[in-house]
Amino acid sequence: MSHHKKYSDATKSVHAGMIENEHLAVVTPIYQTSTFKFRNADHGAALFAGNEEGFIYTRMGNPTVKGLENAVAELEGGHKGLACASGMAAIHTVFGAYLSQGDHVVCSEAVYGPTNTLLSEVFSRFGVKASFVDTTDLKAVENAVRPETKMIYVETPGNPTLCVTDLAGAAKIARDNRALFVVDNTFASPILQKPFLFGADIIVHSMTKFLNGHADVVGGMIVVKNEEQFKRLRRTLNLFGGVLDPMNAFLVHRGIKSLSMRMEKHCQNAQKIAEFLEKHPKVEHVAYPGLPSHPQHELAKKQMSGFGGMISFEVKGGLEGGKVLMDNVQLCNLAVSLGGVETLIQHPASMTHAIMPKEIRLKAHITDGLVRLSVGVENADELIEDLDQALNKISV
Ligand code: PLP
Repeated sequence: MSHHKKYSDATKSVHAGMIENEHLAVVTPIYQTSTFKFRNADHGAALFAGNEEGFIYTRMGNPTVKGLENAVAELEGGHKGLACASGMAAIHTVFGAYLSQGDHVVCSEAVYGPTNTLLSEVFSRFGVKASFVDTTDLKAVENAVRPETKMIYVETPGNPTLCVTDLAGAAKIARDNRALFVVDNTFASPILQKPFLFGADIIVHSMTKFLNGHADVVGGMIVVKNEEQFKRLRRTLNLFGGVLDPMNAFLVHRGIKSLSMRMEKHCQNAQKIAEFLEKHPKVEHVAYPGLPSHPQHELAKKQMSGFGGMISFEVKGGLEGGKVLMDNVQLCNLAVSLGGVETLIQHPASMTHAIMPKEIRLKAHITDGLVRLSVGVENADELIEDLDQALNKISV
C-alpha cells in the first residue's frame, strides 16, 4: 500500500501494516522465532546501540508483531503501536511507564473492573492515588484534579454502562493541568472513534475484542503519538515483559482485515436490537449511544462515526429477571468478553465487574440487574427472536 495516499479505513483495514518480506508473500509471514541472528559482532552491537534497524530478540520486537503494531497505529492515526499480551498488559504498561510514587490519576468510574482494581489495589501499594469519577460530567473531572494529577484515564463508551465521555473536553482539562490523557478505545475500535483527533495522548486497546473480532486471541495494544512516548513505553514493555507473541499477532492482524466491514454490521445489528429492547415490556431501561434516549446521544454523534456493537440494559425483576434471560437464550452465548462475530450476553455485577467493591460498582450505575450484550454479526432478526423468547420467560 502506498504511503503517499490517504486511504479510507475500509482500505486501511485490509492493507495496513503489511511488511516487506523476502518472498513477496501477500500476507505477513509468521516469524515464529524467539531470537534473530547477527551478521557479525559489529551488526549485533549496532542493533543494540540503536544505530541500525533490525530485530534482536522477540520480547524487544518481531516483524510479524511489528506489522500488526503498524496496522493499528495507522488506523488510529498515531505514530507507532506496541502490541501487548492482553489489554490489561497494555494498561499496566502505560501506568508503569508514567506513574510514580505520589502521583494521582483521575479515572472514569465506568471502566473495565480490573482497570479500577489495578489502580486501587496494586498501584496504590506504590503510592499512586486514584479518583474514580463520572467522566461524562466534565465538572466532576475538573474538581477531581489535584496538583499531583499526572494522568486522566477515560474509557468511552464506558464498560458496561455505555456512558460517553466528551473526549475534547477531557483532553482540554488534561492539557490545562499538564496531565497525560489516556483513552481506552476498546468499545469503539479505531473505525468508530479516533481519540487522537480529540486530543488524546495515548490510546489503549484490548485487541481481544473488536480488533481481533473472532474470540480466539487475548491481546492488547498501546498507540502513541510521538517517538519520545514510544521509547519510554518500549523500554517499560521490554522490562515488564508482557509482549504479544508472533502467532497471536498474525491472528489479530488477520482479524483486522475485516474490521471495517464487521463494525458496520455490529452497528446495524445493535441499533436494531436496542430499538427492539427499548419497546419490550420486560425491559426497564436500555443504554445504547445510538438511541435518542441515551443521555449523551448528541455527543456520541459528534465524536463517533457509528455507535458500536455494545448494549447494556436492565430487565424487569432485577437480578432474578437477568438470570432468567441469561439461562434461556439459545443463540446468544452466555459468556464474558465482547467484540467478536458471535453475540455474547453476560451479567456485569456477578461477572466482569464482580471484582469492584459494591459501593463503587453501584456508584458507577452497574446495578445488580444490568445485563451486557455484545451484539455479533449474525442475522439481527434471529437474535431478536432469541432475546424475545427468553425475555418473555421473565415473570413480573
Ligand atoms: N478494556 C476494556 C474496555 C475491556 O472490556 C477489557 C476486557 O474486557 C480490557 C480493557 C482488558 O482486556 P484483556 O481482557 O484483553 O486483558
